[in-house]
Amino acid sequence: MDPRGSLGKLSLVDGADGVDGAGGPLRSREPDGVTFSRAVFGPAVRSAVLRVMDSGWVTSGPEVLRFEREFARYVDAEFAVAVSSCTAALEISLRGLRLAPQASVLLPTTTFCGALNAVLHAGLAPVLVDVDPVTGNATSDTVHRALAAGVRPAAMVALHLGGYPAPVAELAEAADLPLSRVVEDAAHAVGTSVGDRPVGGAAAAACFSFYATKNLAIGEGGMVTTNDAHLAETARRLRQHGMSRDAWRRYLPGGSWRYDVEEPGLKANLTDVQAVIGRVLLRELPSAQRRRQRVAGRYRARLEGTRGVTVPEPPTTGRHGWHLYAVAIDPRSGHTRDEVAAALSRRGVETSVHFIPLHRMTAYRAMAATVPGGFPGAEARFERTLSPPFDQHLTDIDVDLVCAELARVMAS
Ligand SMILES: *Cc1c(COP(=O)(O)O)cnc(C)c1O
Repeated sequence: MDPRGSLGKLSLVDGADGVDGAGGPLRSREPDGVTFSRAVFGPAVRSAVLRVMDSGWVTSGPEVLRFEREFARYVDAEFAVAVSSCTAALEISLRGLRLAPQASVLLPTTTFCGALNAVLHAGLAPVLVDVDPVTGNATSDTVHRALAAGVRPAAMVALHLGGYPAPVAELAEAADLPLSRVVEDAAHAVGTSVGDRPVGGAAAAACFSFYATKNLAIGEGGMVTTNDAHLAETARRLRQHGMSRDAWRRYLPGGSWRYDVEEPGLKANLTDVQAVIGRVLLRELPSAQRRRQRVAGRYRARLEGTRGVTVPEPPTTGRHGWHLYAVAIDPRSGHTRDEVAAALSRRGVETSVHFIPLHRMTAYRAMAATVPGGFPGAEARFERTLSPPFDQHLTDIDVDLVCAELARVMAS
């Protein structure tokens, strides 16, 4: 039990060691602590939303088309299809690959459950792959180990965990798959480049998330990007029940009420209200990403030398998207990750863990049994990993506060 626990959140403000540049006491942007991540909507978003509402068109329409065009340009892909979530984007993309029913699909065990659910809902059989204990990404080696069980995968979902670029082409090769059988889970990869290429057009499709904690935080929403015109067309159909034409057009002047359903799809369209928020946030994204990089740099400078805490190494090639800033807590420090997270929470610092490996989930446990040797990399990482508050809205003082509190916890 932390002896300072009873001081609770007050200690964060009153008990901090340092002073800011002006010589005043450290103060958080919020009186009661530092939240894990915030979605912030400024005046530009508010007026854009009002403009859409005043237009009388609030479901998918012209703003979605504009957002798709602008997002495709941002990630350097030919097509972008806006959908309701990254989970829907993954299911739609996987269905668009036209694999045989129950074909095997590789995906890392260190990911969000939505990715695995998407594989299942697409009628496919997930095969969990171990990850590198440091980056948390799958590697050629962990893919080879999964294949050693005799699995012949038909496709792979490749994740760039926290924004750290995964070597997608190498992973595909290790799985003996062409890139046209790889779907990138780009939920963390807004701003990530593999080599000199932004994530978006390298594989069959890339699936982005605009969930409230992601780098482009509309609240909810997703995007499929691809250079495959046929896959883009399929995605447009599948997001709208499988109807034969972009269904919203039927309400436009000159639109026709006539449509066919060629295959049953999802109801997974994005609305114009969401799209216009996305368009404003996309304009602000380059500066948000620069700020995220600076926050990462400040964390590194402040945490290097804190006993028992390992900071993430930047990638040797490509560009980190800095969705998360996950540190590792060495259990030999005498503090478990769980104890550190609880102590920080008592001090008003909200943290998270990305992710509880999927092979630990009740519903998925039966599937994990198929991989010989289990998931030592994912288990080692899970024991240690901790995500402190991280977004582009953190002030330098926030970062310093978090680091000072973490140093105190580790020294206790
Ligand atoms: C957030 C997330 C998703 C799902 O995104 P939604 O837009 O919420 O469906 C998928 N994969 C990963 C790795 C995520 O973090």
